[in-house]
Amino acid sequence: MSPVSSSTDLGRPVSDRGDTVCVIGAGASGLTAVKNLREHGFGVDCYERETGVGGAWNWRHDRSPVYASTHLISSRPFTQFPDFPMPDDWPDYPHHAQLLSYFERYADHFDLRQHIWFGTEVVRVEPVEGDRWDVTTRSTGGYGPERTSRYAAVVLANGHNWSPKLPRYEGLEQFRGEVMHASSYKDPAQLRGKRVLVVGAGNTGCDIAVEAAQQASHCWHSTRRGYWYAPKYVFGRPADQVNDTLLALRVPLRVRQWLYHWTLRLTVGDLTRFGLPKPDHRVYETHPIANSQLVYYVGHGEITPVSDVARFHDRTVELTDGRQIDPELVVFATGYLPRFEFLEGRVLGDEEGSGRPRLWLNAFAAGHPTLAVVGLVQPDSGIFAISHWQSVLFARLLTLRTSRPERAATFGRKVAAGLGERYSAKVKDSTRHWFEVGHADYLRALQRALYDLEGK
Ligand SMILES: Cc1cc2nc3c(=O)[nH]c(=O)nc-3n(C[C@H](O)[C@H](O)[C@H](O)COP(=O)(O)OP(=O)(O)OC[C@H]3O[C@@H](n4cnc5c(N)ncnc54)[C@H](O)[C@@H]3O)c2cc1C
Repeated sequence: MSPVSSSTDLGRPVSDRGDTVCVIGAGASGLTAVKNLREHGFGVDCYERETGVGGAWNWRHDRSPVYASTHLISSRPFTQFPDFPMPDDWPDYPHHAQLLSYFERYADHFDLRQHIWFGTEVVRVEPVEGDRWDVTTRSTGGYGPERTSRYAAVVLANGHNWSPKLPRYEGLEQFRGEVMHASSYKDPAQLRGKRVLVVGAGNTGCDIAVEAAQQASHCWHSTRRGYWYAPKYVFGRPADQVNDTLLALRVPLRVRQWLYHWTLRLTVGDLTRFGLPKPDHRVYETHPIANSQLVYYVGHGEITPVSDVARFHDRTVELTDGRQIDPELVVFATGYLPRFEFLEGRVLGDEEGSGRPRLWLNAFAAGHPTLAVVGLVQPDSGIFAISHWQSVLFARLLTLRTSRPERAATFGRKVAAGLGERYSAKVKDSTRHWFEVGHADYLRALQRALYDLEGK
């Protein structure tokens, strides 16, 4: 570290890291940010609160949301980084342990570990004069003293699948059964022989319901509305690859919706026949659920679809249609919320304190040209390529701040004008869709931003 140059408002010394950029998190997004910033010539300090790379995919860490059977939902070629393919002999949908080995190899191949401070969590990020940032860290768990370093720029790559979103239900505190969030679900043994209620129809909720179908003595699956359950394969190919071919051919949304409905009709058929509620929206209006097994197990009577939960009683759960069921275990697969507790919400444009940042390209905050959020997207495909191109854009922006400051200033005006822009078909307005992007539209917007920046 370079010599101490000043002190914080609290009088603690600040060590000035000059032009170095700080990256928070060493998951997929943080790793690619470190790699791309290094390739653009920047010094980088990356802080990772866990002891290894891989973020959500590092199942060795307590906070990892993956469970024993987690496989990719997006297929391999649509998930991997553009400059680091996964091995050809891997399956279409690799297992989470393969994903972890992929990140470990990525880190080794690009020699990234030397820039990462493991076991170090960021507790405060504060803007200071000159568009610089004071970043305060400490050992994970709060041991040892805090340390503050001053950086030229900061990348927030802290992920948005860590902090469980738990709905409030009347009577939940009195319920005598076992209750858990999906983040604590690791192994099907946790379901074995029990009467299980799974709440939520995201990809995780559907996975857990399928496992409960095989392990539990009974499984109810509660959803707020009807959904489209897409198979993972269509015409013998991973479904996202077929969808992408249509996107590449620029097939209009209406036609894609019609084709999708038609394909579902040919494969799973009319879902209401299985007792599943009729979807109240068209496909592409909620985040895609890719699960070939859910409808199968409903069809075999191993999963009973039920309506939303109304309230909990001592030993039973009352549903909105008035029915009562008696699960021993309730698993809330109700998603996650983003958390930036180390930063004042207004820095990311969250003026009302809702927790929802207001950014351009889901990455850039107005008035803070040296700050980028990488990976705050929920695409209809893999995230890694998006994180890669977001960090390339940020690295080029930082470079231009010195070489062509007028271009960097124009970019700043675009950020202010484009806050909150959406990059997807019309989606249901819920926390689940805060960061929903259509990957093709989003990557196109990123490409445009890159070209504009470079004056092409
Ligand atoms: C069950 C499941 C299935 C999924 N399937 C897919 C899929 O098929 N395809 C896909 O693309 N995505 C999928 N995802 C999404 C997944 O989140 C991304 O693939 C990927 O993990 C995002 O990487 P990230 O680096 O942005 O965030 P993360 O992987 O969450 O990494 C964030 C890192 O930041 C660190 N961190 C957080 N706060 C701090 C702090 N204050 N100080 C220091 N370090 C900090 C964390 O420890 C973590 O290592 C899935 C997610 C889940 C839960």
